[in-house]
Amino acid sequence: MSVADEIRSLYAARGSAVYFGERVTMTEHALQAAWFGQCERAPESLVVAALLHDVGHLVEPAPEDLADWTTDARHEEVGARWLAQHFAASVAEPVRLHVPAKRYLCATDADYLRRLSEASVHTLKLQGGPMSAAEVAQFESEPHFREAVRLRMWDDQGKVVGLRTPPLSEYLTLVEKLARPRAT
Ligand code: FE
Repeated sequence: MSVADEIRSLYAARGSAVYFGERVTMTEHALQAAWFGQCERAPESLVVAALLHDVGHLVEPAPEDLADWTTDARHEEVGARWLAQHFAASVAEPVRLHVPAKRYLCATDADYLRRLSEASVHTLKLQGGPMSAAEVAQFESEPHFREAVRLRMWDDQGKVVGLRTPPLSEYLTLVEKLARPRAT
C-alpha cells in the first residue's frame, strides 16, 4: 500500500470524527490547514505537513470526549514519528513542533493568546502553558521552528464551519510526489 493509500484509509476510517472541541471534522480541519498554507504560497512540503499535522490522532486515537483527555496524548510526536518514516524532515519536523509552537506563540505574541478558541485554551494547560524564556530560546534553535509557527497559524484557523477546500484526493497527489519511495 502506498503512503497516499494509507492516508486515504486513515481519513476514511477516522476523519469524520469531530475535531476536539470544535465544529469541524478531522478531515475538514486537515484540509483547511493545508488550504490556508496554499493560500500563503507555502512550499509543498509545508502544505503536506499542514495536511498531516494531526495524523498522530488518526494513527493513535485520543479519547473522544475532550474533558476526559486529562493527559496530553502527545499526538505531535506520534505523528512526526509516523511522518519521518515516509517524508523528509521538512514535513515531519514542523509537525513535531506544532504543539510547542502554540506555547511559543503564547509566550511571544500578546494577541495570540486572546484569539485562541476555548478548546485550544483548555489543551494549552495540558500542554504546559506558555513557554519560559529559556524554552523560547531553545525553540528558536530548532531548524524548522519558523515553519512550525506558520503551520500553527493554519492549524488555529482550520476550524471554519462549511469552508470549501480542494478535496483530499488533490493533496494526495502532492503526498505521492514528496513521499520517499518504499523499499520493495
Ligand atoms: Fe490541528
